[in-house]
Amino acid sequence: MIPAQFDYVKPSSVEEAVQALQQAGDEAKIIAGGQSLLPVLRLRLAAPSLLVDLGGIAELRGIRDEGDRVAVGAMTSYYDIIRDESVQQHVALLAQATETVADGQVRHRGTLGGSLAHADPAGDLGAVALALDAELVIAGPEGRRTVPAPQFFLDYFTTALGESDILTEIRFPKYTGWGSHYEKFNRTAQAWSMVAIAAAVRVEGGSIAEARVGLTNMGSTPIRAAGVEQRSWATGHRRRGAGSSRKGHRRHCRAE
Ligand SMILES: Cc1cc2nc3c(=O)[nH]c(=O)nc-3n(C[C@H](O)[C@H](O)[C@H](O)COP(=O)(O)OP(=O)(O)OC[C@H]3O[C@@H](n4cnc5c(N)ncnc54)[C@H](O)[C@@H]3O)c2cc1C
Repeated sequence: MIPAQFDYVKPSSVEEAVQALQQAGDEAKIIAGGQSLLPVLRLRLAAPSLLVDLGGIAELRGIRDEGDRVAVGAMTSYYDIIRDESVQQHVALLAQATETVADGQVRHRGTLGGSLAHADPAGDLGAVALALDAELVIAGPEGRRTVPAPQFFLDYFTTALGESDILTEIRFPKYTGWGSHYEKFNRTAQAWSMVAIAAAVRVEGGSIAEARVGLTNMGSTPIRAAGVEQRSWATGHRRRGAGSSRKGHRRHCRAE
């Protein structure tokens, strides 16, 4: 189907984009990579009168090493995240989960910010943001604010973003030297998670000293498996080998 008619603007700064959203009110919609929004428009499940394209805002793209954390611009594509050295070294779980998203075409266009803002419970990256204690930077009419991941995901497709808000950056603390793994159960024909688990552990002397676990598509939002974290920590489980790949699973594991 062809989307309903809409106006289109491509601002070159975050401030301009916020202003455009504010002026249009609930008639406007942000477009990032378009991988979730365009199918919605084509099915006419939404008919915004204005699309605000974030593709012209250089500030929103790219990955910075900021000492004790890695900051990922909201408009950074999955493709760039997977290939980034500081992500691979310090936030390996993000790269591992991102590799399982969709196919090459979607990974070239889709963005981390778009995925988190869309807040589909089956999306793979919310559980990673939650498990790794990411912080989300939001720009709005009142300026910028930082929201911890647990306060960002509110319900099915619902986040802390207001009508005129833009997610600008996602900040991850560094997990250098941690082991991590994204275990995804999906139908062979599609990449979407039926369920998935994002896990990172710090191992000391062969036992788990710290653990972070997030769950995908097991509720209306990503879930932090705090009980599992405490239990594996308290009992100091010894690591086992990763084992071989099984049909219907995507194993993306990096041991330290
Ligand atoms: C065939 C196919 C298979 C897929 N498989 C998977 C999969 O296996 N796993 C998975 O996780 N995802 C999957 N996806 C979804 C994909 O990851 C999307 O790219 C992602 O959900 C949205 O990112 P985007 O940049 O394309 O955002 P868009 O589609 O442009 O936007 C999505 C929503 O977020 C809002 N938005 C976007 N950016 C911002 C921002 N910076 N601030 C505020 N609001 C914003 C938009 O207004 C819109 O409501 C798949 C998609 C397709 C088409």
